[in-house]
Amino acid sequence: MTESLEANLRSVRQVITRSAERAGRDPGEVVLVAVTKTLPVERIREAIGLGLTQLGENRVQEALPKIEEVGPADLDWHLIGHLQTNKIKFIEGRFRMVQSIDGVGLAEALDHRLESPLDVLIEVNVAQEPQKTGTLPADLPAVARAVHGAQHLRLRGLMTVAPMVADPEQVRPVFRELVALRDTTSQQLGVPLPVLSMGMTDDYAIAIEEGATMLRLGRALFGPR
Ligand SMILES: *Cc1c(COP(=O)(O)O)cnc(C)c1O
Repeated sequence: MTESLEANLRSVRQVITRSAERAGRDPGEVVLVAVTKTLPVERIREAIGLGLTQLGENRVQEALPKIEEVGPADLDWHLIGHLQTNKIKFIEGRFRMVQSIDGVGLAEALDHRLESPLDVLIEVNVAQEPQKTGTLPADLPAVARAVHGAQHLRLRGLMTVAPMVADPEQVRPVFRELVALRDTTSQQLGVPLPVLSMGMTDDYAIAIEEGATMLRLGRALFGPR
C-alpha cells in the first residue's frame, strides 16, 4: 500500500512540476493537501510517513477521531466540506484552516466561538450548481466583508469545487472565474488574498495552469474511494 501511495505521490509531484512550468510558475508555490476522507488512520500515517503534512477532511464528525489519534502536532488539518453551525465548537485547536466559509451567518458564528486567529477561505460555487454548497458569486462581497471584519478570522483566499465534467478542459473557465473573483475581492478589501484552493484529482493539472496555490487531492494519491 505504501509503495502505491509513494508512486502516486511521485507522479502527482511530476504533474505539479510540469503544469507549473507550462504556466511559467514556480512549482514550490503549490501546496498539496492530501484528502483523507473515508480513509482509516493507518493510511493517514503512511501519508504522514511520506512527508505529507497538509491533510483535508470534509466532515468534522469524521475528522475528530482521526485528529485525536494522529495528533495535530506538525500537521495541518484543513476542513474542506460544509461546516454546520453545531460543529463550530470543535474547530479551535484542531483545524489549521477552514476552507469552506460560505455565508455571513457562518462566518459570524465561527468568529464568535473562536478565541484565537484562524485562517479561512471562502468557498465559492462558481458554476452556481444548485446541489452544491459555497457562496454564490453575487454574495461573495458581503461574505468577504463579514470575514474581513471578523475579529478572529484571517481571510487568506478563495476555494472552489469545480463541476464534474467529462473533459477537464471544460472547467478551465471556472478556475479563471475564481481567480477574477479573488482579484476583485482583494481590491475591494484592500488586502492580498494569496490562496486559491482549486484542483482535485480530475482537474488539478488545469487548476495549476490557471493559478491554483493549493490542491486538494484524494484519489490521485490514495486510489479510488
Ligand atoms: C473529496 C474532496 C476532494 C478530493 O477529491 P478527489 O477527487 O478524490 O481528489 C477535494 N475537495 C473536496 C471539497 C472534497 O470533498
